[in-house]
Amino acid sequence: MPRRSTRQVHVGAVAVGGGAPISVQSMTTTKTADVDATLTQIYALAAAGCDIVRCTCNEPEAAEGLARIVPRSPVPIVADIHFHHKLALAALEAGVHALRLNPGNIRKPDQIKAVATAARDHGIPIRIGVNGGSLDPDIEQRFGGATPEALVASAVRELDYFREVDFDDVKISVKASNVPVMIDAYRLLAETVDHPLHLGVTEAGPVPAGLVKSTAGIGTLLAEGIGDTIRYSLTADPVEEARAGRQLLEALGLRARKNVDLIACPSCGRAEVDVIKVATDAQAAFADRQIPLQIAVMGCVVNGPGEARDADLGIAAGRGRGHLFVRGKIVRVVPESEMVAALVAEAEAIMSEGFDAVLARADADAEAIAAATRDELIQIQGIDANRDADRINRVRVVTDRT
Ligand code: SF4
Repeated sequence: MPRRSTRQVHVGAVAVGGGAPISVQSMTTTKTADVDATLTQIYALAAAGCDIVRCTCNEPEAAEGLARIVPRSPVPIVADIHFHHKLALAALEAGVHALRLNPGNIRKPDQIKAVATAARDHGIPIRIGVNGGSLDPDIEQRFGGATPEALVASAVRELDYFREVDFDDVKISVKASNVPVMIDAYRLLAETVDHPLHLGVTEAGPVPAGLVKSTAGIGTLLAEGIGDTIRYSLTADPVEEARAGRQLLEALGLRARKNVDLIACPSCGRAEVDVIKVATDAQAAFADRQIPLQIAVMGCVVNGPGEARDADLGIAAGRGRGHLFVRGKIVRVVPESEMVAALVAEAEAIMSEGFDAVLARADADAEAIAAATRDELIQIQGIDANRDADRINRVRVVTDRT
């Protein structure tokens, strides 16, 4: 997937643009002045794959909180600034790694330039964070609404103010809650500037709609090579934003896998277990553990190991037992109640000892037990467990196609 070429900025140790890996961002929901609660959330976000965290800096106490948070944070911290340019100056003194300014609500040129000058002197980048819901009213009037052209014009005007004070260490976002508007705004922005772009669908809402909208907007642009850092804006625990962002990048092959990629069959008439429950339990058991394996939960041993033969590790149910397979080979048979625990133990063994060691100590009779169970199930259920062949014959009778 060719990427748009951009200049590069650094948010602390994280490079953005200029060929750097696409980073995942999220934002804390705690009061920034509550340092312990905010740091707890930042650590949870980092564990879920978040590379950069933004905290609101909406009051002097928040700026003081940032002075304590920044040196203790495992990831770079961006201060989110609205309305009060002095809080941007305070956040710089607190040691933040970047600022986000909303051009729609800090509009006085001398204030904008004062912040850009201070950021330049501190060597700190700024994100110009245009938002369709809080666009500068005169730009909105000029363009007849929050159109893609209006969003880009707002960003370019801010950039011009910055350049007047010789500051260009900038990444840009032009977020809208309307997905087609957001996509067109970023496409236009990508043609207009060479700065790195921060992608997001603003106010996307709760899951699942928020996930769908964000993935549609961000995923479309990433597939076109546009975008250098991303944020899902969900009405949910921010850890879900980080997980979603990370998973999107991994799904598109833009970041290496960090956590478990859990796949599961959709279940069908053959299922020998409640696949949804086992998959949910497995997801909870692995959570954000750094086990970069693809792990499969399959409802039956008749088709499961074959359908998931490309997974690193998996389990398939059959006759009250779980058939554990590694790279398609059945290595162990465990009681159904131990399926999830067995998956976790085997994943840990693969991580610590490697695939060869785990495959070398496979139970000698596991394949034979699985084959016998498979035959038994086919005897009981028939080759066609969903009985669709019967149904198709009945359809053909009705439609005179026998
Ligand atoms: Fe799952 Fe087996 Fe049905 Fe495939 S055939 S969907 S593995 S239960």
